Amino acid sequence: MIVDLVLSNAKAYIDNEIVDCSLAIKEGKIFKIGKKTAMPKAESEIGLENLLVLPGLIDAHVHLRDEGKSYKEDFLSGTAAAAAGGITTVLDMPNNKPVTMSIEAIRKRMRLAERKALVNVGFYSEFPESIDKIERIGGEGVVAFKLYMVEQVGGLNIDDDSALSEAFTTVSGLNLPVAVHAEDKATLKRTEDKCRRANCNSIEAFLEAHSEKVETTAVKRLLNIAKQTNVHIHFCHISTESALKVIIKAKRSGVMTTCETTPHHLLLSADDLKRIGGSALTMPPMREKHHNIALWRGVQKGWIDVLSSDHAPHSLAEKEAHLIWDTKAGIPGLETILPLILTQVKHGKISIAAIVRLMSEKPAEIFGLNGKGCLKKGNDADLVAVDLHRKYRVDASDFLSKAKYSPFDRLKIEGKPVKTFVAGQLVMDEGEIVAKPGSGEVIRRG
Ligand SMILES: [Zn+2]
Repeated sequence: MIVDLVLSNAKAYIDNEIVDCSLAIKEGKIFKIGKKTAMPKAESEIGLENLLVLPGLIDAHVHLRDEGKSYKEDFLSGTAAAAAGGITTVLDMPNNKPVTMSIEAIRKRMRLAERKALVNVGFYSEFPESIDKIERIGGEGVVAFKLYMVEQVGGLNIDDDSALSEAFTTVSGLNLPVAVHAEDKATLKRTEDKCRRANCNSIEAFLEAHSEKVETTAVKRLLNIAKQTNVHIHFCHISTESALKVIIKAKRSGVMTTCETTPHHLLLSADDLKRIGGSALTMPPMREKHHNIALWRGVQKGWIDVLSSDHAPHSLAEKEAHLIWDTKAGIPGLETILPLILTQVKHGKISIAAIVRLMSEKPAEIFGLNGKGCLKKGNDADLVAVDLHRKYRVDASDFLSKAKYSPFDRLKIEGKPVKTFVAGQLVMDEGEIVAKPGSGEVIRRG
């Protein structure tokens, strides 16, 4: 028996603990985990001395763009950024040009990803106009449906509760989650229109429009519909203390719901947004510091299920619009999420176990990614080797993403992904991409 690869002398996170071991990989799967002396013969061997091996990280909230938005990012640049950041699977959001909300659009994106992607890619769909089409879109293997509540992106009328109910019931029947950007359109636009009319063009005005209440109102509304339809609502980028409280209460009462937060909502505040300006603008925005504290508590208590980057690249010109209301919201995050969060291990804010739970186990479970989420025999050999002791600074000019800016630029960090393996293939080595486009796999659920 000859396997393809042995990764030797590693420390690896297996069965909830860090153990000294070697891993044998055959045909893209983990074939054996054990002592180096127990490893089978291999075509090649890579020594991972002084590195920690984690199960491949899954970033469940990524905008890979491409097609009509390829000037912002494409499958190759976006998945190169993922590999550089130690991420082995990304889930692609549907607000593309054209919007991912038809079988044709999904198949086209899958074909493009098959040719270009360096890491695994799964796909969200927006809701089509006709409810009848939901089932067939589900049949294409999307990982979830996405609902954007700020304005209508897909075909579903977001102002109509009964339309939402009907759509959610159908999705629930397919056993897929609905991922929601929870900001209430009516509440938000009322303030935004008032500010625009009064020529308010400040970050303060943007923060006032994207208030805590905007998020909480949407969360409450969606949870009500979730209760009636039994659909699993997954809340994207929860950013406020009160929205989190509402979600915790719903979880405790038995509602099937999960939620996500991001490194920028944990680590940055409204003060940072005001200091940096439009290039740091996100939706929802960074907020007052007591929200950071509440979100950290949510992470530490296990109430927050998923940590994602919400990698949302734009051109720099789009980030420097004249009006704050026309500034594109979103920042690149694939290359910073893991280093930033490893740095927090050093600060005692989070454990390696929690990182694996938030960035691998839970996303795999929520989005039905079989064979992923933990290191065990038979699972996909998606893994990342990190150097916990590497100290350096974020350098956005070095990003492989097309978006070469970051609110974390120049920040001192400690902990670096140094090798990324996808299905047993080394894709990133010390920041360099060493695999060919197309080596990532398209994930089809079910
Ligand atoms: Zn997003």
